[in-house]
Amino acid sequence: MFLKDYIKDIYGAIKSLLVGLNRTGYYFTHHKEIITEQYPDNRATLVMAERFKGEVVMPHDANNEHRCTGCTACELACPNGTIKVVTKFEVNAEGKKKKAIDKLVYHLELCTMCNLCVVACPSDAIKMAPTFEHSVYDRSLLTKILNNPGSKIMEGVE
Ligand code: SF4
Ligand code: SF4
Repeated sequence: MFLKDYIKDIYGAIKSLLVGLNRTGYYFTHHKEIITEQYPDNRATLVMAERFKGEVVMPHDANNEHRCTGCTACELACPNGTIKVVTKFEVNAEGKKKKAIDKLVYHLELCTMCNLCVVACPSDAIKMAPTFEHSVYDRSLLTKILNNPGSKIMEGVE
């Protein structure tokens, strides 16, 4: 019984090895069919898939304006506390107090890229970016403020 199992294991291992070698040999002679890429050698030409999600970002226009109203819907939608919206009150042209974003704190190290915050945002103020080289030696660098310094909300966004 023991000898039978032993021989069976050896047979299985050799078979598996030959299957692997066969595949390697196939791609050795069929270069054009290889779909893996030599990263990071291909960094200059690397094109990420459109659906790839690397981090949450807040786009700003040329006037350093964003679309975030500070509604906190993204914070509420996030399942693991990755986003913290800090708000403040600003006085508008009519002298009325209005809630505005002070900072949108994003903990990249916690983010699972689930996209729920982006879907929840009623103002299209945030989106997923295809960046992915996030390695750092200092963990605190992964905590980001998504609104630029000195930025403000775009006119007409409520
Ligand atoms: S992508 Fe998901 S985990 Fe990341 S901040 Fe948005 S809701 Fe939270
Ligand atoms: S990013 Fe969107 S959901 Fe989050 S606070 Fe700003 S407007 Fe609201």
